[in-house]
Amino acid sequence: MRVLISENEISERVKTLGRQLSEEYSNRPLTILGVLTGSVVLLADLIRATSVPLRVALIQAASYRGAETTPGQLTINQSLVSDLRGRDVVILDDIFDTGNTMVGVYEAVRGFQPASVRSAVLLWKTARTEVDLEPDYFGFSIPDEFVVGYGLDFNDDYRHLPFIGVMEDEDLKRSGAKQNDC
Ligand code: 5GP
Ligand code: MG
Repeated sequence: MRVLISENEISERVKTLGRQLSEEYSNRPLTILGVLTGSVVLLADLIRATSVPLRVALIQAASYRGAETTPGQLTINQSLVSDLRGRDVVILDDIFDTGNTMVGVYEAVRGFQPASVRSAVLLWKTARTEVDLEPDYFGFSIPDEFVVGYGLDFNDDYRHLPFIGVMEDEDLKRSGAKQNDC
């Protein structure tokens, strides 16, 4: 595995995003809505990098896809979502790849009648966007490579790595199993 973004680089960038959110959402009823499971590490770091009052909510989005990373059917579980009515929601996910997950979560969130909705991700694979939406906040734009770490998994492993790493072809070939991209 090759390190693409180091622990230090992530930490600096997350602090900057936290400052930016703090400026833009001061005196606003902010709720950061983490998309399970990939956003949990970013969520924990980002909320501690903000200096304004905020609430945390969680939603689950999962798409099943093969090891060759073709997008699958998107399932959204909103049973964990607390009341978002009238709140300024920032949807937080680990990565914006095709963008289909973010579009699906946006639609689910609108049903709760929030005051506003924006999106934030750590990583954006800019060359893969398939939707008419771009993340409002992103940490890094990255090339079209399969990455793991800092919450991102491969077959549910590697989420704990403190850096973003690229899975080499050899690593990927070792597993042909179906992958749950929560
Ligand atoms: P999208 O719907 O934008 O195509 O995909 C978003 C989801 O796919 C992410 O939340 C993540 O779970 C998964 N995903 C997309 N690209 C990668 C990647 O390079 N590595 C990992 N681990 N997951 C990815
Ligand atoms: Mg995900």
